[in-house]
Amino acid sequence: MNEIIEVSCPTCGKKVIWGENSPYRPFCCKRCQLIDLGEWADEEKRIASQSDISESDTWSENPDD
Ligand SMILES: [Zn+2]
Repeated sequence: MNEIIEVSCPTCGKKVIWGENSPYRPFCCKRCQLIDLGEWADEEKRIASQSDISESDTWSENPDD
Protein backbone atom coordinates (compact mmCIF):
# COMPACT_ATOMS: atom_id res chain seq x y z
CA MET A 1 0.00 0.00 0.00
CA ASN A 2 1.47 3.26 -1.11
CA GLU A 3 -1.53 5.51 -0.80
CA ILE A 4 -0.81 9.23 -0.58
CA ILE A 5 -2.89 10.93 2.08
CA GLU A 6 -3.50 14.64 1.72
CA VAL A 7 -4.93 16.85 4.42
CA SER A 8 -5.83 20.53 4.44
CA CYS A 9 -3.84 22.80 6.71
CA PRO A 10 -6.28 23.89 9.45
CA THR A 11 -4.88 27.42 9.38
CA CYS A 12 -4.60 28.34 5.70
CA GLY A 13 -6.31 25.43 3.93
CA LYS A 14 -3.28 24.50 1.84
CA LYS A 15 -2.90 20.85 0.86
CA VAL A 16 -0.39 18.98 2.98
CA ILE A 17 0.97 15.53 2.12
CA TRP A 18 0.67 13.36 5.21
CA GLY A 19 4.18 11.95 5.49
CA GLU A 20 7.67 12.37 6.81
CA ASN A 21 8.27 15.34 4.53
CA SER A 22 5.64 17.32 6.42
CA PRO A 23 6.95 17.58 9.99
CA TYR A 24 4.27 20.10 10.95
CA ARG A 25 1.31 18.07 9.67
CA PRO A 26 -1.57 18.60 9.67
CA PHE A 27 -0.19 22.13 9.29
CA CYS A 28 1.71 23.11 6.13
CA CYS A 29 4.46 24.90 8.01
CA LYS A 30 5.64 25.98 11.43
CA ARG A 31 4.03 29.39 11.06
CA CYS A 32 0.57 27.89 10.59
CA GLN A 33 1.13 25.64 13.58
CA LEU A 34 2.01 28.63 15.75
CA ILE A 35 -1.03 30.53 14.51
CA ASP A 36 -3.27 27.66 15.53
CA LEU A 37 -1.68 27.51 18.96
CA GLY A 38 -2.60 31.17 19.39
CA GLU A 39 0.89 32.58 19.62
CA TRP A 40 0.62 34.63 16.44
CA ALA A 41 -3.02 35.50 16.94
CA ASP A 42 -2.38 36.98 20.37
CA GLU A 43 0.38 39.12 18.95
CA GLU A 44 -1.84 40.46 16.16
CA LYS A 45 -4.72 41.21 18.54
CA ARG A 46 -2.42 43.20 20.79
CA ILE A 47 -1.17 45.33 17.88
CA ALA A 48 -4.69 45.87 16.55
CA SER A 49 -6.16 47.06 19.86
CA GLN A 50 -3.26 49.43 20.46
CA SER A 51 -3.79 51.19 17.13
CA ASP A 52 -7.53 51.43 17.78
CA ILE A 53 -6.99 53.32 21.02
CA SER A 54 -4.41 55.79 19.72
CA GLU A 55 -6.51 56.54 16.66
CA SER A 56 -9.56 57.89 18.51
CA ASP A 57 -8.23 59.34 21.77
CA THR A 58 -4.74 60.78 21.44
CA TRP A 59 -4.44 61.68 17.79
CA SER A 60 -5.92 64.84 16.37
CA GLU A 61 -5.43 66.05 12.83
CA ASN A 62 -6.34 69.65 13.63
CA PRO A 63 -5.02 70.54 17.10
CA ASP A 64 -5.70 74.26 16.66
CA ASP A 65 -9.26 73.89 15.53
ZN1 LIG B 1 -0.87 26.50 6.36
